[in-house]
Amino acid sequence: MSFLSKVSVRSPWLYRINAGSCNGCDVELATTALIPRYDVERLGCQYCGTPKHADIVLITGPLTARIKDKVLQVYQEIPDPKVTIAVGICPISGGVFRDSYAIEGPIDKYIDVDVNIPGCPPRPQAILEGIAMAIEIWKQRL
Ligand code: SF4
Repeated sequence: MSFLSKVSVRSPWLYRINAGSCNGCDVELATTALIPRYDVERLGCQYCGTPKHADIVLITGPLTARIKDKVLQVYQEIPDPKVTIAVGICPISGGVFRDSYAIEGPIDKYIDVDVNIPGCPPRPQAILEGIAMAIEIWKQRL
């Protein structure tokens, strides 16, 4: 394990990609960032503002045709080893937007997903559990 890996093992950065979500899942992600009761920082991680710093990426939304190329471009900017979480039923199966002409998802057609968090939207507790699972996967990849 490199020096950088050793010092970062307890403090992964989270990064959020909105792939055409209705914002319901994003509100729940904001809950885990802003509401003390569901504070994700207790797991040792924090949201960051740039893909280049990210370790764990949370993707919301069904991957619309309009935004697909941008989503894949930003995803490629996240350095390995990264762990990917699909948040909500939309990135997992298309959810209520399934079979729409405007949808290119599910997201795993283009991106390897490590953790699925179903729900529409998932509860903050489920999101915290999914992030805890992702942290364990991330530690194994370091
Ligand atoms: S899973 Fe539900 S809440 Fe989340 S983006 Fe899709 S429709 Fe919105």
